[in-house]
Amino acid sequence: MRTRFAPSPTGPLHLGHAYAAILAHDMAHASGGQFLLRIEDIDQSRARPAWETQIYDDLTWLGLTWPTPVLRQSDRLPLYRAALKHLWARGLLYPCTCNRRDIAAAATAPQEGTPLHGPDGIVYPGTCRHIPGTTQPLPDTALRLNAARALNVLRHRPLAKPLWFTETGSTAPQTHTIAPAAFLDTVGDIVLARRDMGTSYHLSVTLDDAAQHITHVTRGTDLFQATQIHVLLQHLLHLPTPTYHHHNLIRDNHGKRLAKRDDARAIATYRAAGDTPHDIRRRVGLA
Ligand code: GLU
Repeated sequence: MRTRFAPSPTGPLHLGHAYAAILAHDMAHASGGQFLLRIEDIDQSRARPAWETQIYDDLTWLGLTWPTPVLRQSDRLPLYRAALKHLWARGLLYPCTCNRRDIAAAATAPQEGTPLHGPDGIVYPGTCRHIPGTTQPLPDTALRLNAARALNVLRHRPLAKPLWFTETGSTAPQTHTIAPAAFLDTVGDIVLARRDMGTSYHLSVTLDDAAQHITHVTRGTDLFQATQIHVLLQHLLHLPTPTYHHHNLIRDNHGKRLAKRDDARAIATYRAAGDTPHDIRRRVGLA
């Protein structure tokens, strides 16, 4: 078993991160496997070296170990670009110039009914999908996956089977099948390369889990709906599908999930107040 913890260095790690990291670490070690760390720093406008240093420091203090060198997404931009090129050459991407406001306006037009929300917000209404004449990605545009085409390509492969993944986060392992019609309605044409980044969370995480040979992806239930995107990308890019284990989120006293800016629950705050690593384990229910 190979698991991973994949934080973004955009703020202090809090109790929710401690839970995710310790869970991934303990699951791997309980089966004689390996725990890996990955720094998800594609959002260079928010990532800071100081937060990355603090991640290493907090996790080491918690007693976790991982092989080095650590994979950092900012070192892998050429690989993300190569995957985009491959999808582009197969006619599965199109450039999109819409901003959030354009999307909200198009999706709430009277003839559209109530806009549906998917893993990335409002399901894209398709405004830029059929703009003809683009033979190569333009600079300064986002690239979206043409989901209908992608699903169609997969449906017409020899021996095509439904897309599915195994989820072990609930009590008994479950198989989740991805229905193409539901995918189009509730996920749609997601952005695979953001204008400002040249990649996206979905593309990078899919490529990196495969590159790190992750067998069990452990992460919060907030990312459950995104998993169908990752499984679709795995099939398009000929990558294996790991097992997924979506765990509950640690919440504050008011039932709200913890945020990066919630310094009161930062691991460093508990540390400074005299907590031991065991106290942190106890706080998140993994002692
Ligand atoms: N980088 C993501 C986060 O900090 C985690 C993504 C994942 O585990 O797939 O929320």
